[in-house]
Amino acid sequence: MKTLISWLKQSAPTATFALVVGSGTVAAIQLVSVEDEIKLGRDAQQAIRKEMPEVRDTAVRGYVSSLGERLSAHASGADYPYSFSTADYRELNAFALPGGPVWINRGILSAAKNESQVAGVLAHEIAHVARRHSAQQLTKGTVANGLMGLLGAFIGDRGGAGAAAAQVAAGVTANSFMLKFSRDDEREADREGVQILQRAGYDPRGVLEFMQILAAQQGRSPGAVAQFLSTHPAPASRVQELQQLVGAAGGGRRNSEAFSSMKQRLDRLPAAPSMARTR
Ligand SMILES: [Zn+2]
Repeated sequence: MKTLISWLKQSAPTATFALVVGSGTVAAIQLVSVEDEIKLGRDAQQAIRKEMPEVRDTAVRGYVSSLGERLSAHASGADYPYSFSTADYRELNAFALPGGPVWINRGILSAAKNESQVAGVLAHEIAHVARRHSAQQLTKGTVANGLMGLLGAFIGDRGGAGAAAAQVAAGVTANSFMLKFSRDDEREADREGVQILQRAGYDPRGVLEFMQILAAQQGRSPGAVAQFLSTHPAPASRVQELQQLVGAAGGGRRNSEAFSSMKQRLDRLPAAPSMARTR
């Protein structure tokens, strides 16, 4: 472990590198503690906030964060400080950072036809955090560059004020913090996501409905879902397993008045900018 850390110090903060942890996932999870994840996520979130346009409407933001809070209260695992932010982009995308921060694009809110569909997307992202998928990725070195740089800087800077991490964070784009999880992790996030929805009283069929929306969008305007599909498996490959998971377990909350008033607010906002144009 010692060599690993000193090597990280040498390579930090900007190099892209692969870590090899011979003893597999158990050792991997132990290497990055829950506290590390939370700290990394916080640093990454700071960097992302600098360049990601957030929806200004406080009612829309409030809707997303209260829905997120309600769902994350039912997540398994450590007591992470979850937070839910809404990016002002028209494309359909969502992602989670280590240790709690979750982002969803305004495009998902516009495309959703009921609350259980938005809940399905959030529950899946919450599940990635709860099941510590980023910790595994960080240790395997297969993680997004930005986070790997932060990890290196963070380990080199233990006890310091996080200056090194801030430096790394300044040099990377929000994209470089988006994680691409393994197929197994995605399956697990779908499973745990469905459980979160059920525990929170939501109709888990919302996830399946959202897959149909994604597939339809993919046919109509592929650019709108390109990023989502670069970090998530294709809808078709998730549908079959999700159908088995959801099975006869339909039922539960599908909508709310808060959802309807959020949709009305959205209609009054100027069109959301495109991720492509702001890059
Ligand atoms: Zn996922």
